Amino acid sequence: MSNPEQVTVLQKNLDRIRQRIRSACERRNHNEYDVELVAVTKYADWPWVKSLAALHGCLGESRPQQLMERAPQLPDTEWHMIGSLQSNKVRQVVRAAAVIHSVDSLKLLERVARIAAEEDADVRVLLQVNVSGEASKSGFDPHDLLENWDQIPALLSTAVHVVGLMTMAPAADDPEATRPVFAGLAQLRKELIEQSPEISLPHLSMGMSRDFEVAIEEGATLIRVGSALFEGLN
Ligand SMILES: *Cc1c(COP(=O)(O)O)cnc(C)c1O
Repeated sequence: MSNPEQVTVLQKNLDRIRQRIRSACERRNHNEYDVELVAVTKYADWPWVKSLAALHGCLGESRPQQLMERAPQLPDTEWHMIGSLQSNKVRQVVRAAAVIHSVDSLKLLERVARIAAEEDADVRVLLQVNVSGEASKSGFDPHDLLENWDQIPALLSTAVHVVGLMTMAPAADDPEATRPVFAGLAQLRKELIEQSPEISLPHLSMGMSRDFEVAIEEGATLIRVGSALFEGLN
């Protein structure tokens, strides 16, 4: 295990992040319990992951391999898969994760639905959207998603629930620069629900260490925070 002083630093970082969440929620007249912190452990060594899991019940990994190694060892943790998902990793990820944030095509959604049914799993899924249109980002094009929205219910199985949208904002020094991207995801959710209320989309997964407050102000319900948790450690 990590030494007690280091665990204190981790606890302090966590407290500070929770305080920042509270403040952002107050600015938005938002209930703080409507925002869930996904503590991203992709940079963290295993002893840290164990220490963190004792303090916080919801962890996120971006690489299937690491998720598959860690999740079975911490079965009481709710594991979120947040990074890009290749089709040959779907089965392992479906076994390990309660929530997948990174479903970025209809083909992948269909595959997750089929395999989750085969595995008798119960998976919540968010559809990743490329709001900024950057060529380097994966995700649905917003217009394509609107156009194909009616096809989605037919692709699902009872083992999979689409519960929201996720986006990655372009890296920016000024968190304000990411606001239009987060607002764009919130707007897209509205339009999708108007088009067909069959899928209710309660969640918006957006915001990371640098910009999660802006994301909460724009309606985030899941924030994915990694580096801010491990500041002052290593
Ligand atoms: C690493 C990662 C995060 C966390 O980023 P930080 O800036 O370290 O908070 C969030 N989402 C995804 C998809 C990531 O890969």
